[in-house]
Amino acid sequence: MDQANRLPCATYPMPDELLSSWLTRLAHDHLTKTHTFGRMLFPGANVWNTDLDRSAPESMLRTLALRTGTPLAKVEKTVLQRYEGRLHPHARHGTVAPWVLPLGIYHRTRRYYGLLYCPQCLQKDGPTPYFRTHWRLAISHVCTQCGVYLLDRCPYCERPVTFFRVELGRKSALADKPISHCFQCGLNLATVATKRAPSLVLADQLELERILGEGWNEQVFYPHLYFVVLRQLMKQLINARPASQAFQKAMDIETGWSPVAVDPTVRTGKVSIEQLPLQVRGACCGRPSGY
Ligand SMILES: [Zn+2]
Ligand SMILES: [Zn+2]
Repeated sequence: MDQANRLPCATYPMPDELLSSWLTRLAHDHLTKTHTFGRMLFPGANVWNTDLDRSAPESMLRTLALRTGTPLAKVEKTVLQRYEGRLHPHARHGTVAPWVLPLGIYHRTRRYYGLLYCPQCLQKDGPTPYFRTHWRLAISHVCTQCGVYLLDRCPYCERPVTFFRVELGRKSALADKPISHCFQCGLNLATVATKRAPSLVLADQLELERILGEGWNEQVFYPHLYFVVLRQLMKQLINARPASQAFQKAMDIETGWSPVAVDPTVRTGKVSIEQLPLQVRGACCGRPSGY
């Protein structure tokens, strides 16, 4: 490793950390604003106007590996391409990737609730709270570490989690709060109250994570096939086609619950699975439950 290229306060990404989370922490550790740090490290690149965790080019990952002394394989784990071949066969840049929550990026704002979080995990992180790659997945709705429901927004101001803007509006170039703080109202998301998930809901989430990590079973080796079928079933539950109505009605009766009760737009054909409200998505992936 070329020591001359090494950033003075370089750190490794935390386990399962998202690239954007790591990059934001690196910027703050270097007492630099995120956009300045992005420009310095990647001249000419539109770092924060894109879904970095989905679309960071290989050259960017190589630069980060070099500048932080982190093995490239470890850096590659910070982007959502790590789930290719497990959650979906492949994802193309610029298109909706199956099971990856969209951020709805408009300039440097986010219109969708595309990043989930577990307050308890953020709290357990202590002085270095960070955001995980699996919090960008539409199959995630419960934290299996803490046994509580994940959240998708600041409960105080209702804004999506946009941690790289935590320094916004401060005259000082320095971010004076950890990235667990809401960029809009300053609430520390690590302190937000959580709701415990029932054991059956937790078991469903554990099973989804097991399939994602290990594969389905000895007969079916490719986990993405399981998720292709699950996604197809969920589409049947939420689409607007008359042909799906009998199935939807039967499922509503069987479960005693209807997604339309949570969000009337669910069966109008206007929302994708990844844009479903969190509680609807969780119920369709596993079973209805009280959020
Ligand atoms: Zn947790
Ligand atoms: Zn807020």
